[in-house]
Amino acid sequence: GGADAGTLVARGLRVAYGGFTALDGVTLDVPPGRVTAVVGPNGAGKSTLFHCLAGTLRPSGGRVLFAGRDVTRLAAHARTRLGIARTFQQLAVFPSLTVAENVRVGAEQGRIADPGAAERALRLLGLDGPVRSLPAAGLPTGTLRRVELARALAGSPRVLLLDEPAAGLDTGEVSALARVLRALAADGTALLVVEHDLDLVADLAHTVHVMTAGRIVASGPADRVLDPGSGG
Ligand code: ADP
Ligand code: MG
Repeated sequence: GGADAGTLVARGLRVAYGGFTALDGVTLDVPPGRVTAVVGPNGAGKSTLFHCLAGTLRPSGGRVLFAGRDVTRLAAHARTRLGIARTFQQLAVFPSLTVAENVRVGAEQGRIADPGAAERALRLLGLDGPVRSLPAAGLPTGTLRRVELARALAGSPRVLLLDEPAAGLDTGEVSALARVLRALAADGTALLVVEHDLDLVADLAHTVHVMTAGRIVASGPADRVLDPGSGG
């Protein structure tokens, strides 16, 4: 409870791949009701950090805490049950299931198995029309990204982790995505966005962390951190 309620925390995370240090002591908070962004060049360690938070990678040092509880050793599916949902940079929908069936799987795997949450997620992502009954196979990337996000939301998550959510989307789709993510944060969800698209980050994030070579080198409000004229 208290100030930690619903906050996902990375504390001093370290990851080495063989002799190569990918995360060199990364500490950040992902608090409820806020959009927290991690930006940085390719190879900075953003996805490695993301995997440590989602539970798909065990750090060699440091801790992951959720709502004050140490979840460092908890598997990804167990974190999903606690309310830490994620989408995949490489899309991971079930191709033979329909859009609605994919989203219902998310409800079953989530914090609360509520079929009503699946229906709300379909509506929120504009997937409640005829597309709901189509198999996922063959749908365009923009639609599949919405299916992924709806699947994550169907489990009523408290934290939503997004790795490159704008990848492959056109500008109209990116602004629709920004609207949905802003509404989720306003509703109290904690959002972490790992993103290349700095326009989306500037538009969306309350707090931005800049990563380079496995470390956070700058943190602050988007307008200060991302403004090249500010001198950092
Ligand atoms: P980003 O998402 O910021 O592009 P990553 O976290 O994917 O960065 O990668 C950080 C560094 O770790 C890169 O140099 C990458 O080549 C390396 N790396 C990532 N995954 C592995 C792996 N499974 N084995 C070895 N090196 C890896
Ligand atoms: Mg990456």
